[in-house]
Amino acid sequence: METEIAGLHHVTAIASDPQRNLDFYAGLLGLRFVKRTVNFDDPGTYHFYFGDARGTPGTIMTFFAWPGARRGIRGTGQVDAVAFSIPQNSMDYWLERLEQQHVPAERTSLRFDEELIRFVDPDGLLIELVESAVPVNVEHWQGSSVPAEHTIRGFHSVSAALEGYERTAKLLTESFGYRLVNESNNRFRFASQNETAAGRVVDLLCMPDAHPGRAAAGSVHHIAFRARDDAEQRHWREQLVALGYNVTPVIDRVYFQSIYFREPGGILFEIATDPPGFTFDEDLGQLGQSLRLPPWLESARSQIQEVLPPIAPPTKQ
Ligand code: ZN
Repeated sequence: METEIAGLHHVTAIASDPQRNLDFYAGLLGLRFVKRTVNFDDPGTYHFYFGDARGTPGTIMTFFAWPGARRGIRGTGQVDAVAFSIPQNSMDYWLERLEQQHVPAERTSLRFDEELIRFVDPDGLLIELVESAVPVNVEHWQGSSVPAEHTIRGFHSVSAALEGYERTAKLLTESFGYRLVNESNNRFRFASQNETAAGRVVDLLCMPDAHPGRAAAGSVHHIAFRARDDAEQRHWREQLVALGYNVTPVIDRVYFQSIYFREPGGILFEIATDPPGFTFDEDLGQLGQSLRLPPWLESARSQIQEVLPPIAPPTKQ
């Protein structure tokens, strides 16, 4: 089977206060709150999913919310920044919106000919908004507080900070089907061959003199790439095992099936299936409005609800 990866499926990061996280991503950034569930491996804590109108793969930013979690330390072996795409001519809108909400933001010099704003989320995670002319297959959420002409259109890219980038680059190009499309100083840009997929870009930052990072609040926990279906995921599992990676068995994440492995630079990679998606257990119109639990945790619903901190709908901004 000749298979290539279309792009990112989701990015999962660590937050501390769940309400603050919800207000920032759904309120300020205007993403749709597509799923309110718990961390299946730690069901006393929330797992939030944000995305476009339907939680299309390539738009999904997710958080483990661990109240009181201390902050991580940025460094190598980690994703250094998560970049979202915004339409052209949206820079001024976003700079003003961020300023109004007292989020310090910096408009940096062009990166590979694209305009860029950087700021940090409430836990210190570095977020970038990149103006991109390339149309992608995502669906604006009509309930967003951001107008459609400036809305976030899924991921642009992630930047991975690595002590050395060559082995990770080899995984992307020789296995995933990515190509080196640009480079500047220590930044090497790889892209999938699917030009309309959101999140088709991965930048590898070669940082031989930096210290290893420590994952905690404000850090990316893992990044997930897309598999079209279960068969394609099995193919990836076999390929990766044959290359010597230590890959988990397929794990049921209800909204997708997952395998995980650590890439050569130390970042946790996942491969997640596109189906069944977020309408698996609630209607499209209801996404994110109530706590959803996987079938195997339903019997513990009342105990789980007792320990989860209450949350209010995201503040509209
Ligand atoms: Zn994941």
